[in-house]
Amino acid sequence: MNTEDARTGARPFLDVRDLHVHFGTEDGLVKSVDGVSFSLERGQTLGIVGESGSGKSVTSLSLLGLHKRADRKGKGGARITGEILLDGEDLVSAEPARVQELRGNKMAMIFQDPLSALHPYFTVGSQLTEAYRVHNKVSKSAARKRAIEMLDRVGIPQPNSRVDDYPHQFSGGMRQRAMIAMSLMCDPQLLIADEPTTALDVTVQAQILDLMRDLQKEFGSALIIITHDLGVVAELADDIMVMYGGKAVEYGPAKAVFSSPEHPYAWGLLGSMPRLDRPVLDRLVPIPGNPPSLINVPSGCSFHPRCGFTELCGRYSAIGQDVCSTTVPELEPTAGEPGHLVRCHLPVEVRRQTFDEQIRTHL
Ligand code: SF4
Repeated sequence: MNTEDARTGARPFLDVRDLHVHFGTEDGLVKSVDGVSFSLERGQTLGIVGESGSGKSVTSLSLLGLHKRADRKGKGGARITGEILLDGEDLVSAEPARVQELRGNKMAMIFQDPLSALHPYFTVGSQLTEAYRVHNKVSKSAARKRAIEMLDRVGIPQPNSRVDDYPHQFSGGMRQRAMIAMSLMCDPQLLIADEPTTALDVTVQAQILDLMRDLQKEFGSALIIITHDLGVVAELADDIMVMYGGKAVEYGPAKAVFSSPEHPYAWGLLGSMPRLDRPVLDRLVPIPGNPPSLINVPSGCSFHPRCGFTELCGRYSAIGQDVCSTTVPELEPTAGEPGHLVRCHLPVEVRRQTFDEQIRTHL
């Protein structure tokens, strides 16, 4: 999100507008992503946060063109509409060959599970060099030199010899470092990390997040971190987008979203996050219920079956007591920091008072 761009009219480096990703299935239409818009500049980090099935990973795979597209009848894959403008080039309407050319070169992904993403039959070095040589006309020895440099940069000890190891000879943390090295081989301008630390233990998680922060500064790429864990993006992200049921329900500068969250789902995510500054005996507050079905998305605000504030909301609404279950709220600016948007019918002063009186003390 860049307010400067809003003033000057200049296009952000990544500009996603009204993105819809739907899948036709025998059970009905799965609306995985349903009208999502966001933007990102080089050198900036966006955290996309939500539970499983919120649409965050489908969004990231769409950016990289990794969904099989539906046929003309809308069957057999993803129906994608909207715009994904990368440096002004629309990836939704681009030919698959063009998106493939950009993938791994101008944009790259760090996957959640490096053991699945790295091929077990090939050495780490050969997988790094292959990715590099697909996009660069260089000799094998030059590519190997680059692979050793990158393994060294991400903190793999003795990279000259470890480059010839197989993935199973690396620890979990080293495999994730190797994945990061692979994603950086071609110096991409957009890097997407999907749950980059989920499979790692806590101390290694912290090391990997530190490494990503350092590398982003060094390489100046735009970084998107997809996670279910707000803690992962707390210190890394410039902006946060909270997704629920395929839509953004809160979006804005990370500081504003963390210090003054305005959506009841964001309150729930923060309340269920373990924190070191909280007394050990304080209980985490889970969000009741389950994420919505993306085939039969609840009417009105899709969070209403799990929200504890529907009655309060109805009391203040001109639409009526059932406003939460009948009317889809728009993503609208809050009265706070510029660029902070929220999708909730609660009037802003009621939201703030509720947060201050009922929620803040439990965070
Ligand atoms: Fe809760 Fe209603 Fe706001 Fe949705 S619109 S988050 S149901 S108060």
